[in-house]
Amino acid sequence: MSPARKVFLLVALPLTLIFAGVIVALLRQPTPDPKDPNINSSADSWEKRVANAFKPSECPLLPKPKLDASYYQGPLIDAHFHPPSLPDSALGSELEAPDDQTLLGVNITYDEIACTFRNDGTSGKVFAFFPVYPNIYKPALEVVKRAVDQYPDVFVPFIMPPDNDGSPTGYPTVNSDTLQKMLKVYPNLFKGYGEIGLYERQGGAKELPPDSARLLEIYPVAREHNLVVMFHLGEGQAASYEKILQANRDIKFIWHGDQLINCTECTQDLTVIDGILSRNPNVYYGIDELYGDVFLMQAEVGKKKFLEHFKDYDPLLKKDVETWKSFIERHPDQVLWDTDRGVLTWSMDIEVGRALTNYSRAFIAELDPDVQEKFAYKNAEKLLPSN
Ligand SMILES: [Zn+2]
Repeated sequence: MSPARKVFLLVALPLTLIFAGVIVALLRQPTPDPKDPNINSSADSWEKRVANAFKPSECPLLPKPKLDASYYQGPLIDAHFHPPSLPDSALGSELEAPDDQTLLGVNITYDEIACTFRNDGTSGKVFAFFPVYPNIYKPALEVVKRAVDQYPDVFVPFIMPPDNDGSPTGYPTVNSDTLQKMLKVYPNLFKGYGEIGLYERQGGAKELPPDSARLLEIYPVAREHNLVVMFHLGEGQAASYEKILQANRDIKFIWHGDQLINCTECTQDLTVIDGILSRNPNVYYGIDELYGDVFLMQAEVGKKKFLEHFKDYDPLLKKDVETWKSFIERHPDQVLWDTDRGVLTWSMDIEVGRALTNYSRAFIAELDPDVQEKFAYKNAEKLLPSN
C-alpha cells in the first residue's frame, strides 16, 4: 500500500464518512407524527377517506324537467356551491356527520353531487368553493384534483382555506404564505379564491376588512395565480372594499350577502350595492336570495317545507321582481345567478334542485330579454379563463 493510499484510508476516509454522517443527520426530518394527515405514515386511512369521497354510484337517467313555455329555457350556471369537507377528526375516530349537514365520504360522495347537478335542471356547471383546511390540506387538495379530473365540465374550482382548523375564533382565511404553499401542490388547478366570509362571527372571529394587512398580502397571490376573488362582505365594509376594487382593477371580484345594509329589519335596500357595481367594472354580485325575499337555505326549513314554499309562484315572483328586476337590469353585465347550496344535506336533493331552478327560470323570464342570458350564465362564463 502506497503511503498516500495509507493516509487516505487512515485519515481522509474516516473524516469523509464522519462528515457525510453529520450531513445526513442534519438533513433528516423529525420523526413523523402519526396523527398528522399530511404525513405518509397515516396514508392508508386518509387514502380511505379520500376513496370514500369517490365511491362510485349509479346516477339514474331522469327525464328532463318539463318547463312552462313562458319560462327562460336557456343554459343556467350556478355560481355559488359549497362542496362538503372531508372529515378532519383524528384517524380511527367514529365518523359522524352533524345533523342535516353534508360530510364528504360519510353521507355524500362526488358521484352523488355530480348526479344532482346533471339532473337539477341547470347546465350542470357550478362555481365550487372547495374547503381546504390547513390541518388536512394535502388530502383536501387531492379531493379537489380528483373531483375536477373526474368531472371537468361540472366544477369550476375555487380554494376556500379557513385558518381555523375548525375553531370558531380563527381567521376566515389562511395567510398568503400558506395560500401559496397550497396553490403550489397542483399548479393551475384553481380558478378562484373564496368564498371568504369577512363578517364578524357571533362569539367567534372578529371581522376581517378587505383592506386588512392579511388580505393585502393575498391579492398579489390571487394575481399571480389568476384567481377570481370571492367574498361574503361584513357590515360596513363598503368603503374598504371599494378601495381594494380600485387598487386591483386587473383582479375580478365576486361578492354577495346583504351585510352592507345598515338595518336588520328593513327590506333590501340596494343603494350601496348599486354604487359599488356602477363605479367598479371588475366586480360581480351574486344573487342567491330569490324565492320571495325569504332566506330558505336553513337547516330548520328542510326539504318538505322548502318544496311547499314554491306551491304558488305568483306572490313570490311579485316580491322578487320588485326587489331584483330593475337592479339586475341596471347592471346587466355584473350580476350572477346562484344558489349557495351544499352545506345542508337536503339542499343537494335533486327534487330541491329542480324546485330551485324551475322557480329561477320563471323569475328570469320576467327580466328584459337582453339581460336574461347574461344573468343566467353569460356573466359567469365571462369569469372563466378563456383557455
Ligand atoms: Zn356561501
